[in-house]
Amino acid sequence: MAAAAGGSSVELNTVELKTRMLRAELSGTTASQMNAIRRTLLSDLPKLAIEDVEFHLGPIRDETSGKDYDSSTSMFDEAIALRLGLLPIPTDLGQFRKKSECTCKGEGCAHCQVMYSIDKKGPCTVYARDLLPLGDATLATLEPEVPIVRLGARQALLAYATAIVGTAREHAKWQVAQAVGFFPRATIKISKRAGCTDSCLKRVAEASPSGLLEFTGGKLTYRGGDDPEKAILLLGSQRLCEHGSLQVELDDNRFVLRFETDGSLSAREAFRFALKDLRRRFEELREAVQALP
Ligand SMILES: [Zn+2]
Repeated sequence: MAAAAGGSSVELNTVELKTRMLRAELSGTTASQMNAIRRTLLSDLPKLAIEDVEFHLGPIRDETSGKDYDSSTSMFDEAIALRLGLLPIPTDLGQFRKKSECTCKGEGCAHCQVMYSIDKKGPCTVYARDLLPLGDATLATLEPEVPIVRLGARQALLAYATAIVGTAREHAKWQVAQAVGFFPRATIKISKRAGCTDSCLKRVAEASPSGLLEFTGGKLTYRGGDDPEKAILLLGSQRLCEHGSLQVELDDNRFVLRFETDGSLSAREAFRFALKDLRRRFEELREAVQALP
């Protein structure tokens, strides 16, 4: 990726990319730009989540055995609905959009909502996997083993749920990215300064987090290799030598971004969408400025 930023260009170096996790180094950027990306990842990514749950009230009859079940369970319906709301649902942003932006004008269609059903009779534990999509089976939740509620011998749960697209600005159940953070790239510089002693360097090494510094043969050495997440850990260690023999230099235009997703979007899709959304917002602003008399 390369994008214009104040004449220079932003470069992307993937440190680690998994389906649900991205760790990337961006250079030619600033802390403010990184923060804009961070805030967008946290609040503005759209995804599907259960919004409405309709519970069957009154007795539930099993047609085969003729047995009657009670529809009230050990948990309030609201609590069950909330649990269903928090389940991650795979979201294809090419297919789904917010109801307010849909061609159906908010009436609800195959592009803005997904219907599910649950039909379980006790005694049993109802799991997330019992929430069945009506239609496309690929829209089943990504966390099938989450327990929802335990049903007693004469209890049953019959409900219909509707998932719609939203963002975390409205409710945390629409939060795609978690643990979103960034930090500057740090470079470790070691050189024994005047006044510094072996015992001082030894003390610095012994107090270093995760044994990242080693003092052997009269020399202080850094053991963190090229891992940016290790170098930043030594930020506090430099204060331990008042002579300045250990220095952690922070780059103000190279940052490491790290986040995870709940799986509804892949880390790659989430990152791409966040950047697209930022561009859209600035483009709207630019048009507004253009329209000024
Ligand atoms: Zn629609």
